[in-house]
Amino acid sequence: MLDNLTQRLAKVVKTMRGEARLTESNTAEMLREVRLALLEADVALPAVREFIAKVKEKAVGEEVIGSLTPGQALVGVVQRELADIMGADLGPDASQLNFATQPPAVILMAGLQGAGKTTTVGKLAKYLREQQRKKVLTVSADVYRPAAIGQLQTVTGQVGADFFPSQPTDKPVDIALAALDYARKHYHDVLIIDTAGRLGIDEAMMQEIAALHAAVKPIETLFVVDAMLGQDAINTAKAFNDALPLTGVVLTKLDGDARGGAALSVRHVTGKPIKFTGVAEKLDGLEAFDPTRMANRILGMGDILALVEEARKGVDVAAAQDLAQKIKGGGKFDLNDFKAQLSQMKKMGGLSGLVDKLPAQFQQAASGASMDQAEKQVRRMEGIINAMTPAERAKPELIKASRKRRIAAGAGVQVQEVNRMLSQFEQMQSMMKKLKGGGMMKMMRSLKG
Ligand code: GDP
Repeated sequence: MLDNLTQRLAKVVKTMRGEARLTESNTAEMLREVRLALLEADVALPAVREFIAKVKEKAVGEEVIGSLTPGQALVGVVQRELADIMGADLGPDASQLNFATQPPAVILMAGLQGAGKTTTVGKLAKYLREQQRKKVLTVSADVYRPAAIGQLQTVTGQVGADFFPSQPTDKPVDIALAALDYARKHYHDVLIIDTAGRLGIDEAMMQEIAALHAAVKPIETLFVVDAMLGQDAINTAKAFNDALPLTGVVLTKLDGDARGGAALSVRHVTGKPIKFTGVAEKLDGLEAFDPTRMANRILGMGDILALVEEARKGVDVAAAQDLAQKIKGGGKFDLNDFKAQLSQMKKMGGLSGLVDKLPAQFQQAASGASMDQAEKQVRRMEGIINAMTPAERAKPELIKASRKRRIAAGAGVQVQEVNRMLSQFEQMQSMMKKLKGGGMMKMMRSLKG
């Protein structure tokens, strides 16, 4: 569904290189691609707009960390923002069901016909029985579809929960109240009420479920929606959200082609947390919702996200700021600083280690061979600096021919290599002077060659 987002982002990741910051202009192109991809994926325009605005606000001015390119860093921002929009910002408990009520906790299921309500009731009953040791009763208030009541009876039996029988001639509200009464008398912890859906949004259906809601006052009202619906998910979600005080969403059929774009739209329209996802027809195919995992699934950027995470962890921001401060204050960039920069690069997982984490199509683009060489070179440079005395590191101009020979012997390299390292150091030193410490990250990237 959002394959294009992955492809479009990949394209921009390749083109956005060699800049130290995310700025208006270098993020503009990438954001245009993100916007197009989301629109192509049938995410509603207001949801897209809101999303793009948030990403832009967060991205611009963000320092690009160490070994990342601006494109990769922006993917990181997009991922975090996606996770937030999916509910990561609601906190880890948002996807939990609420049981803070006098038992039974009533769960009312709402959604169109075919969305997966009945199946989800079965899955939920199984989940609550097995994971939370709840005594569960189910009931169907669907008196329209002939097979509906029997279908719920079957799935309830399959998961070993209790079933409250109803008749197609009964009224939905009466059925629900009778089941509630039964659940109270038999000490059920949870009563799950399946309701009638229609093929499309229907005023009578909305009134009926609103009446059911008013009668049983459920602690959870879950909107069940098929992830395969594109733009339609928005309209349906809006209609149900207007008619009912929803407490959460169940996104079904995520095992199909859908990559979760509907999650974005539904969250935008309802503002309610997605609590579960359906990932199989089978009754164990229900998963507690994880916003971050969904964001990663939508992005489809494989391990680029792991890479961003690693860089984020590895970078020693304080050290970089200290150095920037020192240079700004007229301090000299010496070989100790140079070495600190090198070890910073290594801490971020090693350059070739980072390349290994990229998805295949990026590995090619990043030309693994030169990265590998770069890493070896970094290690040799560190070896050379290690062979120097503290005085030499602090005052590199002391290093004349005889000292060079001694250092080369100590590091096990040729004198030419010591010279090359020193000239690289001098290049960086003069660059640092020009940058006045402002472009630490840029400099580190230029090191990779
Ligand atoms: P209802 O009309 O809302 O009660 O929908 P049903 O529970 O009858 O489900 C409609 C169809 O979707 C059935 O064939 C289910 O097996 C299927 N279904 C429901 N949830 C999922 C899911 O998470 N994954 C897959 N693959 N199929 C599902």
